[in-house]
Amino acid sequence: MSPSVAVVASLNVDHIVRAPRIPEPGETLLGFSTSRELGGKGGNQAVAAARLGASVAVLGCVGQDEDGDEYRQALLAEGVDVTHVRRSASPTGRAAITVDAEGVNSIVVVAGANADIPADAAETAISDLPELRVVVGQLEAAVAATERAFATARARGVLTVLNTAPADDVAVKLLPLSDVVVSNEIEFRQLTGQDPFDADGVRRGSAELFAAGCHWVIVTLGAEGCAVLDASSSTQVPAVAVRAVDTTAAGDSFVGALAARLAEIPGEPTTADVVDACGFAAKVAAVVVTRHGAHPSLPTLAEVIDA
Ligand code: ATP
Repeated sequence: MSPSVAVVASLNVDHIVRAPRIPEPGETLLGFSTSRELGGKGGNQAVAAARLGASVAVLGCVGQDEDGDEYRQALLAEGVDVTHVRRSASPTGRAAITVDAEGVNSIVVVAGANADIPADAAETAISDLPELRVVVGQLEAAVAATERAFATARARGVLTVLNTAPADDVAVKLLPLSDVVVSNEIEFRQLTGQDPFDADGVRRGSAELFAAGCHWVIVTLGAEGCAVLDASSSTQVPAVAVRAVDTTAAGDSFVGALAARLAEIPGEPTTADVVDACGFAAKVAAVVVTRHGAHPSLPTLAEVIDA
C-alpha cells in the first residue's frame, strides 16, 4: 500500500537509566537499571502510526553504523517504507534518558545523522508519494528538510502536522507551513509565553499561532488531557485515567495516532475530525504510559480497542 502518512523523522538509539529520581546538577545517584532501545520522536511517531494500521513512510537519516542498520531493519519489520531513509557519515542519533520512580523522564538528545537529511531529498520524497494525506514533523530532525517537506506537502494539499518538540524557537519558522500544531505544556509556554493551564492563556497563545498561519492548535497537558483549538472554538479532550509507570513516548504516540486517524479522513478535516482524532490519540497514549520504554510501549489497534 502506498504510504498515506510520511514522518520527517529523528531516529535515535535511547540509552535509558531508571533511578529513584532525576539527579540535581552536579549530583551522582545510584540507579536501578539500564536499557538500550530504539527511539527518537520521529521514529516513535512513525512506528506508533504503523502499529495502528497506517501505511507510513519515514524520511530520515541514520549513520553508517550498527545502530543505523538496526533502526532500518526495525522500521522494515514494522512495515514502514524506508526508501527515503538515507545514511550519512555522522553517527546515528542518540538520547540519554533518565526515568524516575514516578515514571517521569528527562532526556538529552544528540542529533548526529538526524541533522543530515537533505532538503531536496525531502521534497523529492513528498512529491513521490501519490497517496500521501499527512506529513508529520518535529524539531529533532533537520529543520530545513522539514520545512521543504511541509512546503511541498502544502503545495499538494497534503495536511501538515508539526509537533513542536523539543521546545526550540526554530518552531516559529515552521508555523506558516503547519496546518496542525501539537505542543506540550513546556513547548506552548516557550512558544507563546502563555500559561497552558489557563483557558484564557491557551486562547491568547493559540491566537498568536493562528496569526502565524496554522489552522488547529493542540496543547497536550499530560494526565490532564489536551485542548484543541481552531480560530473560533476550544474543546477539552480528557486523558484516559490509568496508572502511569513511564511517560516516555506519550507525546509521540499521541502525534502518531493523530496522524494515523487524520490520514483516514477524505478531503480537508473539520475541527470535529481533529477533536475525534485527539480522543483516539488520548486512548493510544494512555496505553503507552502504562508500559515501559518507547517502541516496546506502542500498541496495535487491537490493543487500543481492548484497553
Ligand atoms: P512525553 O515527552 O512524555 O512523551 P509530552 O510531554 O510530549 O510527553 P504529554 O502532554 O505529557 O506529552 O502527553 C500527551 C498525551 O498523552 C496527553 O494529552 C494524554 O492524552 C496522554 N497522557 C500523558 N500522560 C498521561 C497519564 N499520566 N495518564 C493518561 N494519559 C496520559
